[in-house]
Amino acid sequence: MKKIVRVGISGRPEWGVVEGDEIVHLPEGPFDVDPRRGNVLGNLGDLSLLAPVAPSKVICVGRNYVAHAAEHGAEVPSKPLLFSKPPSAVIGPGAAIELPGESDRVEHEGELAVVVGARCRRVSAADAWSAVLGVSCANDVTARDLQRRDKQWTRAKGFDTFCPVGPWVVAGIDAGFVADLGVRCTVNGELRQRGRTSEMVFSPAFLVSYISQVMTLEPGDVILTGTPAGVGPLNPGDTVTVEIEGVGSITNPVVDEPCSSP
Ligand code: MG
Repeated sequence: MKKIVRVGISGRPEWGVVEGDEIVHLPEGPFDVDPRRGNVLGNLGDLSLLAPVAPSKVICVGRNYVAHAAEHGAEVPSKPLLFSKPPSAVIGPGAAIELPGESDRVEHEGELAVVVGARCRRVSAADAWSAVLGVSCANDVTARDLQRRDKQWTRAKGFDTFCPVGPWVVAGIDAGFVADLGVRCTVNGELRQRGRTSEMVFSPAFLVSYISQVMTLEPGDVILTGTPAGVGPLNPGDTVTVEIEGVGSITNPVVDEPCSSP
């Protein structure tokens, strides 16, 4: 198991791997089976972490936990319900979630993120995990009022900053690693969401396979696997943390979008 990070060095994003307290450079990125290692970039505590992904797309799954579907009065779908977020929504740990003036109700959704490691198309569920780099923590930030109003979800899910991912990608794991992990979301230290990945309707490996029947998945693409029950509002001044057992946690402050029109 290893932790893949991306850090800003002289204003440029660079890939690295955490070794003890240090970050070792991966000059060609993390996607080779045995990526070439470079110099030590610095200490983990001294460098600011960027989102550990640079996806061509972020594909999300709705209502993948029975209890969350129930809290919205929705049926559990018989097939995965897919939607997407633009890559421009992705932010890293510590970056601010900006509340847009168009919405009066923005909510957190703590989720396990699966990061694709190899290009794949129509991969079987049995083979899907071989195309996975690893997993991370994510927040499927959602403008709930716009989601209801628009009927389809591109606007509600797609604002800039609505996809925190991090702090790292835990790589070198098998599919069994994600079978039963605790997922928690806290706001200002107060527990809002708690579930286990074992409560998913569709497993992460099945989701990779299912999505790959539709589209070619590229290295770095991100799949958000759905949220457990307990979603709730985010307000300016809040601090929201998504924590996944054995993976890590990502914390982001919440602010009003600067210059956002009501
Ligand atoms: Mg979600």
